Amino acid sequence: MIIHNTVRLRQEHKCFVCGEPAHSFSPNSEPVCLKADCRLVLIRKKQLSDSSYKLFFSLQAAQIKKTTELVKLREKRLAIKRDTEKKENLSCWEKAINPDCGYDPEQYPYAVVPSNLKKITRLPKKRKAIFRKTLYHLINESLSEGEGNQDENSRQNEVLENDSPFEAKACSICSGGCCCIGEEHAFLKKETIFHYMSGHPDQTPAQVVASYMKCLPEKSFENSCVNHTKTGCTLPRDMRSHVCNNYLCDPLNKLRKLFAQTPLPKGVFFISRAQNNWKKDDPDFDNRIVGSVLISRGDLC
Ligand code: SF4
Ligand code: SF4
Ligand SMILES: [Zn+2]
Repeated sequence: MIIHNTVRLRQEHKCFVCGEPAHSFSPNSEPVCLKADCRLVLIRKKQLSDSSYKLFFSLQAAQIKKTTELVKLREKRLAIKRDTEKKENLSCWEKAINPDCGYDPEQYPYAVVPSNLKKITRLPKKRKAIFRKTLYHLINESLSEGEGNQDENSRQNEVLENDSPFEAKACSICSGGCCCIGEEHAFLKKETIFHYMSGHPDQTPAQVVASYMKCLPEKSFENSCVNHTKTGCTLPRDMRSHVCNNYLCDPLNKLRKLFAQTPLPKGVFFISRAQNNWKKDDPDFDNRIVGSVLISRGDLC
């Protein structure tokens, strides 16, 4: 009964600042939602004079309501975008994969991958210098923490299972749509460096830096991760971060699920969309279909 009443009370009470459903209320206080900005108004009520509080309330409430409306509008636009893309994906897949074309749709599911449409340019000296500085910083951190790196180091050794050739193919079609935000840090952490140094105890810090610097390409994707090239990542697996070695974007997650079932699909119909992994869900960006390709199991042998 108490739970029932609480639910009813929540439905009846609106936040006194933004008007959304309230989450906490007591006889001595105004009903308020979970937003920190709304709760701040409640706190200020106790701290400010009446006139200052009135002004603060009206400004804050207007701002919060405006932000809430914008968030809702964005969610609505995103839902429309997702729905449209889903229909386009289905239509693209059905046109290519159907019994008339000799393909059983059950055996050839589709996966949608992002894209990396950046251009290849010479890696600027300035970026190389920032990368070198990052490495020295991480080495210092790693050496000063010593044994403290151990926990993360064991995670660094983890290798995710079921890394199917279709996943590698997805990444090659996508061309590193997640690497675009690697900048000059390449997601390296002090634990990565500790892991590398543990495997190469003969290398001095300067040699460790030199080993990483040697992997830098002469040409890479403009403003992407410094190690990001047309043929993939120039860092060997044991020099990459735990994040880079284990990251699964939505399409890879979907592929992993598809290949955890039996019977295994005979192939995957890949649909490429224009945006990279981090912009694909932004309603402000055009994420049209830019390509499609059917990859059969036989193609990967
Ligand atoms: S993990 Fe996903 S986003 Fe990154 S390269 Fe592979 S398919 Fe593209
Ligand atoms: S280090 Fe390699 S895998 Fe990691 S972000 Fe850079 S290019 Fe991508
Ligand atoms: Zn509120």
